[in-house]
Amino acid sequence: MAYLKYQADYLFTGSEILSSNAVLITNEKGIVETITSASEAGDDIKQLQGLLTPGFVNCHCHLELSHMKGMIPEHTGLVDFILHILQLRHSSEADILEAIANAEAAMKANGIVAVGDISNNALTLSQKIKGNLQYHNFIEVSGFSPAIAQVRFDTALAVYQAFNAHFPDSTVMVPHAPYSVSPQLFQLIDGVTSQHISSIHNQETKDENAFFLTGEGLFNKLYQTIGSDIAAFFKPSKQTSLQTVIPQIQSPKKLLLVHDTFTSQADIDFLQQQAQDYVFCLCANANQYIENLLPPINLFRQNNCIIVLGTDSLASNHQLSILSEMQTIAQYFPEIPMVELLNWATINGAKALNMDSKLGSFSAGKQPSIVLIGNIDNNGSITSNSQAKVILPA
Ligand SMILES: [Zn+2]
Repeated sequence: MAYLKYQADYLFTGSEILSSNAVLITNEKGIVETITSASEAGDDIKQLQGLLTPGFVNCHCHLELSHMKGMIPEHTGLVDFILHILQLRHSSEADILEAIANAEAAMKANGIVAVGDISNNALTLSQKIKGNLQYHNFIEVSGFSPAIAQVRFDTALAVYQAFNAHFPDSTVMVPHAPYSVSPQLFQLIDGVTSQHISSIHNQETKDENAFFLTGEGLFNKLYQTIGSDIAAFFKPSKQTSLQTVIPQIQSPKKLLLVHDTFTSQADIDFLQQQAQDYVFCLCANANQYIENLLPPINLFRQNNCIIVLGTDSLASNHQLSILSEMQTIAQYFPEIPMVELLNWATINGAKALNMDSKLGSFSAGKQPSIVLIGNIDNNGSITSNSQAKVILPA
């Protein structure tokens, strides 16, 4: 079998950035053989300008919402955003399927190889079984009234079974968010997530903590608007939303906490006393879109939290691009080293979704795809003009 050899200005291995002397060697299928020096690599080395990286992992997406691109105004805040989403779910199936296919193609073209995708229905299934990208399917359940817990669970179970038939090792049922799942529903979900990876939207807005701490804030408006009399069953726990629900999510081995915009040191201290592994999934562009905010990223770094990146959906993002997420974070947090951003975008995501035996780094035997980031600066860091291009598979 012939070998393929690539040399660029920089090579990110999945743990460190090597200088231009490093050559990446794979077989024709893109399975990594080794990384060696230019003098050892022999002939036929393909020369590239930019930084080579393993393919990106998008740990949080809602592919089924792709048809909502550009429909929801920016900076409305989370509660008005949710009310928009509820209205816009009813599009024609043909439009929804076309938007799903286009969004997946765009992700593939900009270097994403794997996706942790939230599904409330089975509309993405026909696209996912084509195998263009690797998926971990998070089948999402919500329902804040205890009276509807069983019916919501049963509906989600049918979606879960449809996905599970095709993706038996990478389908799990997950709760939507602390403010939208009753203790009864948490219990039903927890019964089917044993030893698996789970996911929950976490502390995306200030009002989420206020709702649980004092019972005040905009979530009352949400439930008034949808006609749910929450006073009949909900009492504030006087804890943050995170500290309220974590004790109800004990079965999964690992939990992706998505957004974390209002997660505090006290919340992190609380998590560190639990037996589970926690992964902080940042969706910077979506936070900017919905709330014009960013999460306290340096707080997570100071606490050695595991960080991964997600795009959220096209309802709250202008593109599904992990490079664009990195660019936004680099713009507001220029102190974060490039190698750290790349770790979040590749190997940490692959580990979070249990895909690191094949993806996330250029270790021998893996097949992570090869992505070239062009238009980097003289220090090898991305700029606002950087673009990602898939080198392999061609
Ligand atoms: Zn989301």
